[in-house]
Amino acid sequence: MSTVAISCCDNYELEKVNIATKRCLSLIGNIETLVKPGMKVLLKLNLLSASLGPEMAVNTHPTVIRALVDIFQNDYECEVYIGDSCGSLRTGSTDKAFRVTQIDKIAKDTGAIIVNFDKDETIDIINNNGAILKYFKIAKTVKSTDVVVSVPKLKTHGLTRYTGAIKNMFGSIPANGKKNVHLQAPKARLMAQALVDVYEAVQPHITIMDAIIGMEGNGPNAGDPRKVGLIIASNDGVALDAVASTIIGFDPIKVPIIKYAYERELGTADINNINIVGEEINKITVADFKKPSSSAQDFASKYIPDFLLAKMFDNSCTSVSSVYEPNCTRCYECIRNCPSGAMSAPNGKVLVDEDKCIGCFCCDEVCNYKAIVMKRSFLGRTFLKMAELLGVERLQ
Ligand code: SF4
Ligand code: SF4
Repeated sequence: MSTVAISCCDNYELEKVNIATKRCLSLIGNIETLVKPGMKVLLKLNLLSASLGPEMAVNTHPTVIRALVDIFQNDYECEVYIGDSCGSLRTGSTDKAFRVTQIDKIAKDTGAIIVNFDKDETIDIINNNGAILKYFKIAKTVKSTDVVVSVPKLKTHGLTRYTGAIKNMFGSIPANGKKNVHLQAPKARLMAQALVDVYEAVQPHITIMDAIIGMEGNGPNAGDPRKVGLIIASNDGVALDAVASTIIGFDPIKVPIIKYAYERELGTADINNINIVGEEINKITVADFKKPSSSAQDFASKYIPDFLLAKMFDNSCTSVSSVYEPNCTRCYECIRNCPSGAMSAPNGKVLVDEDKCIGCFCCDEVCNYKAIVMKRSFLGRTFLKMAELLGVERLQ
């Protein structure tokens, strides 16, 4: 049975984070058999933004990284690597993200080694059984280190509804490769399967989630910070996602990325079959955690069979991007990040070609001014309205 360890942690004071993280690792119970002195340990971060600081709750908080570096260097005598490829496709963004998140300072102070996955050598992943991705490249360090520790941030996500352990491994793919994945998986459910393809190829040995301050509402970039007050850890990332998503009020089996990973036997999402240790889940649930607008699908799924729902939402309810002009600073980061070339600014104002837009949220993920609005179809808006009117979910 998979174990998920939960430890309360009030804030980002290093000592508190350190104690909570050590408690989680000890509760998981098998770390010493996995991590031996002299091993290379990779901390795979969740760096989405290259410009928003830790207080915005977009990226893994630097104090969690610092605590993990200290633990793996001092308690386990390992060589620590810190790596990621951030959400922006622009050259130099990941280096900038390491600076904004103060990871560069942590590396300087501790001797940990930063690996920018966009500049790392790559290795080929071939999986003829992949649901969407039969072939892709990942950063070599993800496979050349002995132990991979994924460190996701607890957030909602407009496209996948929830983002945590499974989705975090998408950052193992360097920037240009991520663009190709979006083009191969231009709808939410296809993207969820593609993300599970990546997770299947690069399953971390341990996942330690920064759920001290999460992001609610229209995450992963344009939502609001929300205190959850937890560190959550497991060897089973699917089980961790099932527990973490339950804590913020999702039914994990209704979150496609978790559902698909469970169906593909990459871990368990059956909350009754997970050994939850540390804290009692019903005492730490944040029931009014705001969901992204796409959660109307959860509501609809209560009444509509899955096969029909997939058709309805994939074909009728996929969002297209639009720009809320009063908030737009015309920085054009969105245009540079759009994988399908749907955005342009021929006369200064950003325009979206709706026929080309694949609803991937890549523009939303890099807009720091909440200027991207994902427009829904009539059907999508109707379900949203019904969900809100009936008070089924607290939506952004
Ligand atoms: S929508 Fe956002 S990212 Fe795009 S140009 Fe405007 S402010 Fe910049
Ligand atoms: S406009 Fe935005 S949502 Fe549409 S394809 Fe481009 S990046 Fe994706």
